[in-house]
Amino acid sequence: MTTSTTAADRIGIDLGGTKIDAIVLADDGGVRFEKRVATPKTYAAILTAIADLVSEAGAHASADASVGIGAPGSLSPRTGLWRNANILDCNGKPIPQDIERLLGRPVRLENDANCFALAEALDGAGAGHGVVACFTIGTALGGGLVIDGALRHGPNNEAAEFGHTPMPWPNDSEWPLFPCFCGKAGCVEQYVSGTGLARDYAKVTGMALKGPEIVERARAGEAQAQAAIDRLADRLARLTAAIVNVVDPDIFVIGGGLSGLPELVEELGPRAGRYAFSGAAQVKVARARHGEKSGVRGAARLW
Ligand SMILES: [Zn+2]
Repeated sequence: MTTSTTAADRIGIDLGGTKIDAIVLADDGGVRFEKRVATPKTYAAILTAIADLVSEAGAHASADASVGIGAPGSLSPRTGLWRNANILDCNGKPIPQDIERLLGRPVRLENDANCFALAEALDGAGAGHGVVACFTIGTALGGGLVIDGALRHGPNNEAAEFGHTPMPWPNDSEWPLFPCFCGKAGCVEQYVSGTGLARDYAKVTGMALKGPEIVERARAGEAQAQAAIDRLADRLARLTAAIVNVVDPDIFVIGGGLSGLPELVEELGPRAGRYAFSGAAQVKVARARHGEKSGVRGAARLW
């Protein structure tokens, strides 16, 4: 049912590797519509799927509703083309213009981890804090930094790429540093992610398991799985401390598939505090409030 409103509603789309989420947010934050579809294989089919979702969502939104889209990767300020997406067919394409042409209305497109950060900073776990740093820890490691309610992009649109900063204070067991797909070696994402956890566990045990399986084994009491999670937590703490040493955020918000682990949320503050310069920093950490909906809610909040 279409509901009349005084303020414009916001349509959000979250493009992921396996699914596309849509939402309609009312001005008061209420949800008017939600839908999820599988991500098609080709760029053209992805554009069509997004257009169909926006059209369907539009039937539940005010006529002047805005459209915001979150996607992996980012827009190059130099070329205007999308880059660094793990949905490879999207790279090198002028996604915003292509979608605007299909929809016949303006859209805003943003990195998905930035959308997560925006949602959590505005009305999620980071609400009421001036500087909110966010990690999404799933298969990969995403980052976002919100300052006084606005995403920090920087002139190169590279702010808060925490996953591709070098892992701080590597210990003897961490050499040689693992090569990253970005061309460097030792990027934090190669260690602090489900993929990194799996590689680390395999290095010690010789067993190739996925991140969630390792978590399951740890919770069942397997010592080697727990040790791998403790190493993951220690590495995340080092990254967190390095960010404290640069901008000292008011709060860190943790989301993504591995954010259910207390080692990565409840235990992160004290661990990171010990790594910070003073050795005794009080680092505030919270788990994302909107769960897997943070990304699509943040996309809607791009306007
Ligand atoms: Zn990298």
